[in-house]
Amino acid sequence: MNLHEIIQKNSLLECIQCGTCTGSCPVAKKTSLNVRKYMREVSVLGRLAIHPPNELWSCTTCSTCGIRCPRQLKPYEFLIDVRSIVIESGEVSPTIRDALESVYMNGNPWGRIRGKRVEWCRDLNVKHFSQGANILYHVGCTTSYDTRVQNVARSLVACLNLANIDFGILGGEENCCGSEVYCMGEKGLFEYLMEENIKLFDKYEIRQIIVNCPHGFDTFKNRYKQRDLEVWHHSQFLAKLIDNGKISPAKSLNKVVIYHDPCYLGKRNNIFEEPRKVIESINGVKLLEFSRSRSRSVCCEGGGGRMWVDVPGPRLAEIRVKEAVEAGAEILAVACPFCLLTMEDAVKTTGNEEKIRVMDIAELLALTLT
Ligand code: SF4
Ligand code: SF4
Repeated sequence: MNLHEIIQKNSLLECIQCGTCTGSCPVAKKTSLNVRKYMREVSVLGRLAIHPPNELWSCTTCSTCGIRCPRQLKPYEFLIDVRSIVIESGEVSPTIRDALESVYMNGNPWGRIRGKRVEWCRDLNVKHFSQGANILYHVGCTTSYDTRVQNVARSLVACLNLANIDFGILGGEENCCGSEVYCMGEKGLFEYLMEENIKLFDKYEIRQIIVNCPHGFDTFKNRYKQRDLEVWHHSQFLAKLIDNGKISPAKSLNKVVIYHDPCYLGKRNNIFEEPRKVIESINGVKLLEFSRSRSRSVCCEGGGGRMWVDVPGPRLAEIRVKEAVEAGAEILAVACPFCLLTMEDAVKTTGNEEKIRVMDIAELLALTLT
């Protein structure tokens, strides 16, 4: 893709340079990132100026700029396209290069070997989809390998088993969905992953998928060219099980909980109610709202490849944790592996370990089931 194609694809000539995108950008408040300026450089000057290292990769693809743009443009998609040009030129930071190489070599961006992908469920008796199942649980890279996030998978499995859902996993055959690969701008590798994954889904006649990662959810649902795939985020699936009476929390939980809307679930896919329904199904829980919630939720800075790019300055997740503590919450509930990791880290760096815990909605629900 060249700059001319980027101008056409992103309708840059419709931009009125109002600056609403940059004004609404949470990252612009702490870095030199100015998406309006990038758009102007490309559409008016026909070139990219020299920017500080990593500035282009500081965008989290949270999509706030797109929601606010009066011309319905998607400045974050434009930035991803610009990244793809820079990626092609080979001028990327070693952390991004290593993550991309790891996806190509091992099917995950975390530099972990494929054989360890199923460690999280060694003692759980989870079957492979090929043994006969109705729905695939696509575990995802971060959930499979991160020891903290693995508990989300274990909790979700407990919920699915209790509801007698006939699900399977792909085990060592599971591949990265490509979400972060695409956002980092490596579109060739993304196409390869998408083709490989679709081949695998076709081989096992997989038509329904559950994911606990909003990034995987958005990618399978909105970027994959497979139209007959029904994709569920676990918040939707659990809310449906609660609605149908297949799951009913047995124990109460007398806690004050605040829910953080993940960008890729809320802003990107308008899924606001289901995670709240899961939390509110638990007796004893008092659910609070952030003053900036739903489509105004503040990004945790985990998306768009940002797990592999260090951006100095105060972290937005730290602001979020402080707001949660000030609101009086004892549990900060999330529905995304990246939010879980960034928020939990922020609890530690802000010294709030004694005051608040971060938990995924599946973990909360699983606590109350038996
Ligand atoms: S908000 Fe939209 S129209 Fe305004 S500067 Fe940004 S991209 Fe252009
Ligand atoms: S997607 Fe989010 S971080 Fe990226 S430019 Fe838009 S508002 Fe800023």
